[in-house]
Amino acid sequence: DLEFFFPVEQTLAVIKPDAYKEHKDDILSYIKEAGFSISQMKETVLTKEMAEGFYKDHRGKPFFDQLVQYMCQGPSMMIILSKENAVQEWRDMMGPTDPELAKQSNPSSLRAQFAKSILENAIHGSSNVEHAKKNINLIFENINLE
Ligand code: ADP
Ligand code: MG
Repeated sequence: DLEFFFPVEQTLAVIKPDAYKEHKDDILSYIKEAGFSISQMKETVLTKEMAEGFYKDHRGKPFFDQLVQYMCQGPSMMIILSKENAVQEWRDMMGPTDPELAKQSNPSSLRAQFAKSILENAIHGSSNVEHAKKNINLIFENINLE
C-alpha cells in the first residue's frame, strides 16, 4: 500500500476575505499547479465567535481585535488540502507572515504576491499537523451546521 510509504497529510488553507475578493482564481491555480488535492472547499463568512476561536492563541495580542475584524469582513474560502507533507509545503508556498519579509526571502510565495500588510496577509495555513486537525474540525464542523 503506497499510503504506508507516502502518507497523505491534510492541512487547512484559508483565502482571507480581501484576497478572496481579488485573487481567488490565481490562488486556486497555484494550489492545483503545486499538486495539492482539494478534499473540501467552502465559501463562508466567519462570525466573530468563529474568528475568535480560530485565532484563540493570539487573544491578548495588540492586533487581536483588528485580526478578528479583518477575518469577518466578508466571505473567505476554506479549503482542506491533501498531499504528502501538505502542512509544511503549504506553509512554504504561503511565505512568511510579513509580506515585506516574504518579498525578500521568497518572492514567488503567495504572501509576497498577494498580501497587503502583516495583518492583511491574504492566506492562512495551519502551522503543524496537530493545528491542522483542530483547524479543520473547528471550521468544517461549524460550517456543516449552517
Ligand atoms: P501565520 O498566519 O503566518 O501563522 P501568526 O499565527 O503569527 O502568523 O498570526 C496569525 C495572523 O495574525 C497573521 O496571519 C496575520 O493576519 C495576523 N498578524 C500576525 N502578526 C501580526 C502583527 N504583528 N500585526 C498585525 N497582524 C498580525
Ligand atoms: Mg499561525
